[in-house]
Amino acid sequence: MSLSLSLSFPKFIQIETVRECNARCRFCAHGTGQLLEKGFMSEELFDKIASEVIEHKDEISRVQLNELGEPLLDKKIAERIRRFKDGGIREVLLITNGALLDERKAVEILEAGVDILRCSITTINPEKYPLLRRGLNLETVLANINRYIELRDAINKDSRIYISTEKDPLLTDEDIEQWEAYWKNRLSHNDVLKISELFSFGLQLSSVDKTRELGIELSTPCIPMMQTIYIPYNGKVPLCCIDFGWQIPVGDANVSSLQEIWQNDIFSAYREMHRNGRRKEIPLCLHCDGWEPKQNLAGEKS
Ligand code: SF4
Repeated sequence: MSLSLSLSFPKFIQIETVRECNARCRFCAHGTGQLLEKGFMSEELFDKIASEVIEHKDEISRVQLNELGEPLLDKKIAERIRRFKDGGIREVLLITNGALLDERKAVEILEAGVDILRCSITTINPEKYPLLRRGLNLETVLANINRYIELRDAINKDSRIYISTEKDPLLTDEDIEQWEAYWKNRLSHNDVLKISELFSFGLQLSSVDKTRELGIELSTPCIPMMQTIYIPYNGKVPLCCIDFGWQIPVGDANVSSLQEIWQNDIFSAYREMHRNGRRKEIPLCLHCDGWEPKQNLAGEKS
């Protein structure tokens, strides 16, 4: 997208139907205890958002059905995936920690038409996994994902799997190599194996080293915020998904349409600041390390 053009509706939609988690990972705001407000999205709000999103299906590339929560805690997640797929949404993505992805749930979401399931596994080292992914069981997660791969191949071959990790200081190069070798042998060429730097939510997480070099180009506009709207469980829309404490509220999806929020003066002014090279004047954006392109196992970027 040319940054001189403004989209009339966001291309990427992130809907958080649940802000709660079954884990307390050390690199997440659930794990650091920094998420003070949590809950489930009301049916009324979800229905309002889903109807508007489907009306705009031709402008949308992807709907992500979670953000700061484990989506498999939402009992209706498969139904919601199906609603978007039946409504003509090109791509529906779910990001999970994998612990609740038992066979029944896997079949439900594959049959509902999920396009991408991204699973953050971090490490397959049995000593380190419980220190990083507190509250989860590595054996269960590996069994779930391995079974999910078989089911995907049988039920919905076009559905893609992303497996991701982040370079936590607890992990050695050897841990990462082991992790990579394990998954490379199991995934297919359309799937994505992603190794990222440790994500810090714009240095907001109390568990990260705040002095580390982020390597951010501060004159470059943020591509995600030019294209994405994030709707938390309560409908109070912030600047982006990094903003878990509503430092920069831009609208309320309970009373406004997504298009009204997207086009309002507040949201537009922040996008304009980024376009004009003024990103560093926004404290949240000054330290943000929230975006990197991905590459699948065949080497294609997305
Ligand atoms: S906090 Fe990061 S992801 Fe959010 S708008 Fe700023 S630069 Fe973009």
